[in-house]
Amino acid sequence: MLRVAVVGSGPSGVYTAQNLVQLDPEVHVDVIDRLPCPYGLVRYGVAPDHEKIKSLQNNLRAVLEHDRVRFLGGLDIGSGGVPVERLRELYHAVVYCLGAATDRRLGIPGEDLKGSWSATQFVSWYSAHPDAVDDGFVRDVRSAVVIGVGNVAVDVTRILARGAVELSPTDMPQAALTALAASQVTDIHMVGRRGPSQARFTTKELRELGGLPEADVLLNAGELGLDPAYGDPSALPAVQRRNIEALRGWTDHQPRGAARRIHARFFLRPVELLADPSGTQVAGVRFERTVPDGHGGVSGTGECEEIEAQLVLRSVGYRGVPLEGLPFDAARGTVPHRAGRVLREDAVAPGEYVAGWIKRGPTGVIGTNRSCAKETVTSLLEDASVIVRTEPGGDPITWLRAEGFSPVEWSGWESIERAEAALGASLDRGGVVKLPDWRSLMTAAHGDKAR
Ligand code: NAP
Repeated sequence: MLRVAVVGSGPSGVYTAQNLVQLDPEVHVDVIDRLPCPYGLVRYGVAPDHEKIKSLQNNLRAVLEHDRVRFLGGLDIGSGGVPVERLRELYHAVVYCLGAATDRRLGIPGEDLKGSWSATQFVSWYSAHPDAVDDGFVRDVRSAVVIGVGNVAVDVTRILARGAVELSPTDMPQAALTALAASQVTDIHMVGRRGPSQARFTTKELRELGGLPEADVLLNAGELGLDPAYGDPSALPAVQRRNIEALRGWTDHQPRGAARRIHARFFLRPVELLADPSGTQVAGVRFERTVPDGHGGVSGTGECEEIEAQLVLRSVGYRGVPLEGLPFDAARGTVPHRAGRVLREDAVAPGEYVAGWIKRGPTGVIGTNRSCAKETVTSLLEDASVIVRTEPGGDPITWLRAEGFSPVEWSGWESIERAEAALGASLDRGGVVKLPDWRSLMTAAHGDKAR
């Protein structure tokens, strides 16, 4: 047999497991996760109102229920948990599918003021991530600035703009729903430093903003006109062309006088987050007007604009974090690799692989992970064809238990699912409601053996 550990149960980890069991009839895969719940960003990143994308969990579930795949949740790898070296001894091969767990920084003054958050922190809160903080994101907020124009920026803008009736049937945790239902936010400014033809959002996500029942989308036609492609988008790639067409369509619309306004802004580079008189709380963002530089970038004009904000969400992309014992390219936020094989000091490290965002950086949609995982699994199985497939030292779970680890197995996850269904029913929310903290998750998973 071939025993493989996959670290991370998000899409890249699950697609890796799927490729392995499809391509090798002898492989047995343990999919390990730090959290007691599987699915990574599909559970803790895809917005709660995107039910269709969330339903991908059903496909991922089928892989994790395969008879040669085991889910081992609640298990830390690296510092404080199972050392990387030990994991390598327990399995013939280890595939790290760690994703990109943190956010990029802006590196401008005021970034750490109260009320300034990374979009990741906000997303974690409304997605019930057990490490999330509930710090009154929308309390006393009238105006919010979202920095960045990628799909995460669109997600957080949309969640801020939605009303309670729209959010209630989702699996959003009750505390976040209550806070968002009471939100007094009237203006949400989603701001790009470059032009509309360089925005990173996809058209379906962009168009959704225009269909929100309680929000108008407002555009500054002058900013759109600054984009050289705005006049004639025909030479652009399809996504950018469709984005421009969608934005153009909105310039003709009269606002309906909705309770909330989404301002889609472009050619504004954040320069500083401004404090209120107390000096601690964010009160606005100073932007510098930019213009296209003719090479796809922008240059500053020296002209500034300040936008009021009691909440700033910095949505400028994710970033991978190093794992103790695994090499890391700090500049790229990824693990160095060759076709998925981990490189240690430029040489292939036998038995160690990467897939997903920790391999290629935080880009692409969920489906991109399929081909990424396939490349890695192809490398792994090529290498495995020359190794002796003996048991590396018995079933790893025996060692884990002997060392005091008690992983959450699939039955534990199913208990969490039942607890979330029961919570949704008790709150009359019309479906599942997520458990938001470690204690309730571990209590559900292990009965009374709470973490
Ligand atoms: P992203 O697509 O990389 O977008 C990041 C945005 O931040 C860009 O507009 C970028 O502008 C801007 N930015 C970066 N540094 C900046 C700075 N210093 N100052 C101002 N703006 C800055 O990242 P993301 O939105 O976090 O998305 C990550 C990945 O997840 C993407 O592949 C995305 O498609 C995917 N995702 C998909 C969905 C979906 O399909 N529904 C939902 C969420 C996420 P520049 O272009 O000028 O650098």
